[in-house]
Amino acid sequence: MYMLLAMGLIVGSFLNVALYRWPRELSVVAPRSHCPHCGTTLAWYDLIPVLSYLLLRGHCRYCQVPIARHYLWLELSNAALWYWVAALEPLGLSYPFSWQLCSKLLFTSALLLIAVIDWETFIIPDPLNLFIAGLALPGAFLEHTLLWHERLRGAAWGGGILWGIAYIFRRLRHREGIGGGDIKMMFACGLLLGSKKILTALTLAPYIALAMVGLWWLRGSKPNLKQPIPFGPALALSTFLAASYSEELGQWFWALLL
Ligand SMILES: [Zn+2]
Repeated sequence: MYMLLAMGLIVGSFLNVALYRWPRELSVVAPRSHCPHCGTTLAWYDLIPVLSYLLLRGHCRYCQVPIARHYLWLELSNAALWYWVAALEPLGLSYPFSWQLCSKLLFTSALLLIAVIDWETFIIPDPLNLFIAGLALPGAFLEHTLLWHERLRGAAWGGGILWGIAYIFRRLRHREGIGGGDIKMMFACGLLLGSKKILTALTLAPYIALAMVGLWWLRGSKPNLKQPIPFGPALALSTFLAASYSEELGQWFWALLL
């Protein structure tokens, strides 16, 4: 379990790197991490998740400028989400991890990163969608619970429905409603999760998006309907819930309908 949390934090700090560099079109691997303010290359002991932040009291060791809080929050959220996902698995909290669990953990991190990047920049980077689609490939061989034609159907529904909505929206309103990133994302997620879960996710997404707009409004931001709302975070959350609780959500939907 400690192993899981530690790895969750480490991957979380990698998400920070990706979050900072992708929208700026910088390489995710090449230069070592440096302070965005003074540019000093950071030593390994400055980059230990959470610990370094606490030891340095949230300031750069070299120039004393405060380190943005969201670095810490992303690391902690990733570790917490990993714990949540692993706790849902029968043997999830015991080491070694199965392929199935590893794939779920990495998928969760990808969704978290999509939500944050889309929230900040209105972009869902293609490498993330490719990464999710890439997880589906070994899954097709290793997981016999989900057959490959079921995966293809999931991708067709996931991408197709959003593409259809985007097409109608463009025809009616003559502007972009749903971005290409959202469509590609749901295509990739469908490939990984299959049609049942992706349809659950798509049913859930509008409600989550509405709830998010509601929360936004309650917090005092004035609602501006002309301003675009990033749909990625709502899609990421609904896909996460559908992937984790498809049975419960399915039963609940049917109970509401009948
Ligand atoms: Zn600095």
